[in-house]
Amino acid sequence: MVATIGILGGGQLARMLAIAGAPLGHKFLVVDNAEDACAGQVAPLLQADWRDFGPLQGFADQIDVATFDFENVPAETAEWLTTHTRVFPNPAALSVSQDRLLEKTLFAEIGLETPEFSAVDSIQDLRQAVDKVSLPAVLKTRRLGYDGKGQFILRQHSDIDAAWEKLGGVPLILEAFVNFESEISVVAVRSRSGEFRHYPLTRNWHQNAVLSASLAPIVVDEEIQRRAVARARALAERLDYVGVFALELFVCDGQLLGNEMAPRVHNSGHWTIEGTACSQFENHVRAVLGLPLGDTQALGHSVMLNWIGELPDATPILAEARGHWHDYGKAARPGRKIGHATLCADSAEELIERLQRVGRALDREAQVQPVIDVLMNR
Ligand code: AMP
Repeated sequence: MVATIGILGGGQLARMLAIAGAPLGHKFLVVDNAEDACAGQVAPLLQADWRDFGPLQGFADQIDVATFDFENVPAETAEWLTTHTRVFPNPAALSVSQDRLLEKTLFAEIGLETPEFSAVDSIQDLRQAVDKVSLPAVLKTRRLGYDGKGQFILRQHSDIDAAWEKLGGVPLILEAFVNFESEISVVAVRSRSGEFRHYPLTRNWHQNAVLSASLAPIVVDEEIQRRAVARARALAERLDYVGVFALELFVCDGQLLGNEMAPRVHNSGHWTIEGTACSQFENHVRAVLGLPLGDTQALGHSVMLNWIGELPDATPILAEARGHWHDYGKAARPGRKIGHATLCADSAEELIERLQRVGRALDREAQVQPVIDVLMNR
């Protein structure tokens, strides 16, 4: 039976979900309040506000299952949808990951350590939190923050007033600043019947708190690998999660610290489109429809390079064997994710050569070098 999958949010994630789901014969309907939402170029787009239940009723009537490309959909909207259609992941899972305090509290409950943290609702709280967490520390909004938005790094006590000035007035969380060795993520999927699969661990590099590059698979200590996957699984089971999600972790002194969970397909899983037999996007579609999950093993080595603000020339990427280009069809704007490229190879050596050529041709050595360094030292 052909199903129609409704997606709340019409950005690049919805676009890649629709592209991945099309060969399975299913249809998509995307709802977004922007008339030029980029998923609208590949799937029907309903322009509506999240809180406007009139048009959302029309959306709910046309779909068999609803999912999200964006975690900040209002909880009331997700709840309301459950009275009209099936919704995956469930709204409770969504609301935990919308709030950094609830999220970190849950991490602690499932045995995942986190950077020291403290809730902050007033300047007095902030002063006490600085004493508890100590400096340096990162002040973050509890809700609606992503890609480093809504964050302030405090290095000395005299930063307290400026941090409060910038972010005060909404619920906040102060976290210890972690001098991590690396940032990694577990992208995983859980089916409607409770089957759990995970992609190989991915290492991530950020520039200005926005993902710049991802590498997978990575060589990590077996115990770290085992613990990261066990925590992701425990999280999914605790939330009765259905679909793909990402757990972002810091590796610090041989310890794993939970940073955040994204209740959706994730930027650090884009490499799975060409780097595995069944991408995170296809597996999400399979999961929400109750279909068997696909193979998550890596096909060789993959690197994803994010294009932020402007698209470079595609030619050097396309000239590489197993070089793949993704233009999201979005208007270029500073800081905006508008595309990515993935390079795959059978061996680490081959991948290094491809990255070196691409880095030189695009004048992007700074973006590729940290990845090359890790590949050289494996
Ligand atoms: P977030 O939106 O919380 O994922 O933060 C974006 C990025 O900021 C992370 O991927 C890290 O590179 C950096 N970051 C966030 N929290 C911390 C922290 N507590 N210590 C050090 N770096 C952090």
